[in-house]
Amino acid sequence: MTGRRAAAAACAGLLLLSGCTSFADTLAAEDDAAAPTADPGGVSCPADRARPDPDRPRVDLAFRLDDDLRTVTGSETVTFIPDLPVERLVFRLTPNSPDSAAAGNRLEVDRVRGDDVAGGRYDDAGAAAPGGLYLVGLDEELPAGKPTRVVLDFTLSLGKASFDRVGTDEGVSWWASGAPLLSWEPGVGWAEDPFVRINGETTTSPASDTTVEVSAPEDLTVLMTGAQSEPSAARNGRRTWTSAEPAARDVSVAAGKFTTDARTTPDGVRVTTGVLPGADVDAARLGTWTVAAIAALEERFGPFPYRTLTVPFLGDYGGGIEYPGSILLATPSRSVLVHEVAHMWFYGMVGNSQFRDPWLDEAFATYAEALEDSTSAAVLAPALGVGGEVGAAMDEFPSFRRYSAVVYGKGSAALLAARKAAGDAAYVDANAWTIATPGDLRAALDDLPAAVGVLDRAHALGKDDAPR
Ligand SMILES: [Zn+2]
Repeated sequence: MTGRRAAAAACAGLLLLSGCTSFADTLAAEDDAAAPTADPGGVSCPADRARPDPDRPRVDLAFRLDDDLRTVTGSETVTFIPDLPVERLVFRLTPNSPDSAAAGNRLEVDRVRGDDVAGGRYDDAGAAAPGGLYLVGLDEELPAGKPTRVVLDFTLSLGKASFDRVGTDEGVSWWASGAPLLSWEPGVGWAEDPFVRINGETTTSPASDTTVEVSAPEDLTVLMTGAQSEPSAARNGRRTWTSAEPAARDVSVAAGKFTTDARTTPDGVRVTTGVLPGADVDAARLGTWTVAAIAALEERFGPFPYRTLTVPFLGDYGGGIEYPGSILLATPSRSVLVHEVAHMWFYGMVGNSQFRDPWLDEAFATYAEALEDSTSAAVLAPALGVGGEVGAAMDEFPSFRRYSAVVYGKGSAALLAARKAAGDAAYVDANAWTIATPGDLRAALDDLPAAVGVLDRAHALGKDDAPR
């Protein structure tokens, strides 16, 4: 995500480690001062981008937005194959985070069932009532490799509109992370991180084979994660919208009186933008900006990770929030839009623990924000001198201001400096669809000690012993 303050702090970002697919283009685009010195032949690139885990979770979501536009009832069916033995399943209830709950949002699990399910209970995790985590106990330990299927029914109450993942305003409702989120980190275990007061993400979730079904009042248009089918014919005043995304970590849905613009990039990515009546930017302009952002970022990081991207513009609440294949745009800013599009690679495709290693998506997205701004390198340079550890976790920052300055600003500056020192590395494609760690980045930089040196001085890679 980015808010106005974060964008300003980081207007900085130019930089860095591209996907192998664009290596030649990236070199050609560099000016002499910034040209990598590494021998391109020395870069080890995978022949193809890594594929999603064939044993990844399957998540089927069904939402019903009530006619009051303030209540969503839903059902979530998860088929999960653990790669380590487990005694329970853990779901994160993001709308119960302290700030989100203060705006009136609330997510409750009404019922859980499944052949292996013994019961469910909430865990506080520093969130508001009824709790930040929902733990589903199993009858007995489930061994690695054995699938289990769990169905959760839930009710989501939407609070007042604000710069948040969940909310409602006249003629529009949106809910991202609006269902219990399976919080599994392959090879590590359950992510049960506490919620924090800093306005940033704290989730960890695996890329999952996902379908979404939304029933909404017939006068609303739905823009969400995944390739959408045409809505059903209206019946009893409602229409049903469906989508599918084979590797989504989470899901965003917006339902509103959107005027839309749809266009397709040269590589076949379907981009749909939407604005509400009276918006101060039109859908076509957002479409133009989005397609341009995709083209610029593909040059650096390789093909866009999804078949579709939707961009509902909610109004001006001061920022943007990224979800797989969908962006909640909450300010009419082109640089914010670029930042969120960059998150499709960093967070969406190359995942991370947003609690433990927030810089792995935010520093990279911030760098990308300034791709088209030739003055940004100069703006960026001082950020490298800011105190603080780029690789710190969310609970190690005393304020949003410090988090923004160190993770967004200094982190992106460090990535630029690393690239200038050593060149590109095969990080993006090699870690596609995983939850990457600083150790994975260090491994990708194995032949580029100068880059490792820069990032180590910024304390970005300090967690080489992180779980993996
Ligand atoms: Zn961001």
